[in-house]
Amino acid sequence: MTPPHRLTPWINVGGALALAVLAADVLGRAAGWGALGPGPRTRPRVALTFDDGPSDRTPELLAVLARHQAPATFFVTAPHAAAHPDLMWALADAGHQLEAHGLWHRPALLLPPWLEWAQVRWHPRAGQSGLLFRPPYGGHSPLTRLLARLAHCQIALWDVEGRDWTSVPASELAPSVLRQVRPGSVILLHDGPAVTPELLDLLLQGLQQQGLTPVLLRDLPMQRISFRAGLRRLRASYGL
Ligand SMILES: [Zn+2]
Repeated sequence: MTPPHRLTPWINVGGALALAVLAADVLGRAAGWGALGPGPRTRPRVALTFDDGPSDRTPELLAVLARHQAPATFFVTAPHAAAHPDLMWALADAGHQLEAHGLWHRPALLLPPWLEWAQVRWHPRAGQSGLLFRPPYGGHSPLTRLLARLAHCQIALWDVEGRDWTSVPASELAPSVLRQVRPGSVILLHDGPAVTPELLDLLLQGLQQQGLTPVLLRDLPMQRISFRAGLRRLRASYGL
């Protein structure tokens, strides 16, 4: 049996690791301090963002966006981009913004550092400037920020969730989103769920009634999440 005093250093290492993981979660995912978030609250602009595509749902989203002449930003994953090159072209041709959502749709904490480096470095517009990366689930490991900096890309979060992954109908989701939306808001939606095209249509009608114009993320433009805004995110994220 290992004497207890030999275990102490390992308990310390384990404790330090747990603290590092908690700190990464609080600083990165929940509060988002230093990441990019909503744009200026003084201009009547918002950004619609779609994660996880492209998918069989993309043509429907494209049709709704075209009907409202609204631009949007798509955070695509590498496997879905590779499976739908035609949709990637269709998105770019329609003037939408393409950004990265990773090589694997896995929380950062489940990736060892060398895989997280590949995860953060992949981008559908690799080599261009102004690259954004939205980590799956917004999840952060202790290394996520450092790796993003090394990959010359910025972490892009959101402030309003469309909750289109739930089974709630669009007619209930839309009013709740429209209540939370403010000038500068970045709205998180998904390219995949069946409810999203109808929800998008209702949101675009509602945004117009509220005098808010949808723009690309690069035109919002996103701003760094301040200490105060981070505290608000933290409270909302942990339900405090
Ligand atoms: Zn996702």
